[in-house]
Amino acid sequence: MIALLFLFLYGAHGAIYMEAADKLLLEANPIEFHHIDYDVLKTLVENEYTDMRRQCTLPNANIEVIYDESLVGTSVLAWASQYMNLDGRIWKPSVFARPEGIHFRIGVNPSPPNGWHVGDCRYIRYQYDLRTVIRHEILHGVGLGSSIRYDNGWNTGVSTGGFCFPRLYDTFIVDENNKKILDGCGMTDISNKKLYIGGVELYHPPNYVAGSSLSHHNYPGHLFYYKSMPDTCMYISKYEADMLGHLGVVCSVSPAPRSILSPIASIFSVLCILFLLLLFDCPM
Ligand SMILES: [Zn+2]
Repeated sequence: MIALLFLFLYGAHGAIYMEAADKLLLEANPIEFHHIDYDVLKTLVENEYTDMRRQCTLPNANIEVIYDESLVGTSVLAWASQYMNLDGRIWKPSVFARPEGIHFRIGVNPSPPNGWHVGDCRYIRYQYDLRTVIRHEILHGVGLGSSIRYDNGWNTGVSTGGFCFPRLYDTFIVDENNKKILDGCGMTDISNKKLYIGGVELYHPPNYVAGSSLSHHNYPGHLFYYKSMPDTCMYISKYEADMLGHLGVVCSVSPAPRSILSPIASIFSVLCILFLLLLFDCPM
């Protein structure tokens, strides 16, 4: 029984937030919108994960999704929480550890200001894009998220039955000198240090913020920053791909050629890549 308790663990929240000024902007510019039915939300999550598996070498995942009524009126757009398995003295995301059962949960704010945008990103106005937020939470769900916290000192890891083991994600974090900050569940003082996973700088403001600090990268305007942006659709960029690479997941960031293209189609493809870089939706 004790062994079973050690095997599975549920926890590790990550979230995505609205900027206060963005929230005010949307509230000052009300638009007509339709509530997204739960069934549609569930299908969108499944479709986004399927699309992400086309881009990245992710395993199959069983995802539970809910509308979280407690988020109404808050600045939280959505959150994700993952199951983990203890493997080799490290807590690993269950999506990589076992095929069965729920691997992670996603909770979505049912009513952000002006509702959710779903559809062609060229027409998004005064709304947050639901699929962007789902993509962000999927990244948390498959394992990008820290258990490092500050409580009169820096702590990490998950204690169970008197033993403490770190989470896989945290074992990748290094300082400016490329030194790992963890040794088991022990860690160095990371106050005011720049921290990285590979070459990707992590969000680590001077004052620790639970749910945001260390669980995101530090590149505003990209998918895995801790705040989303209204009127913007975001996708896996090189930053997210680099972070996933540490979990053993390989992503192709540029669109792969689907067929032999005509010269005109090739020009559109180049434009398409440029559009992607500018974070617009690509029609191809
Ligand atoms: Zn997040």
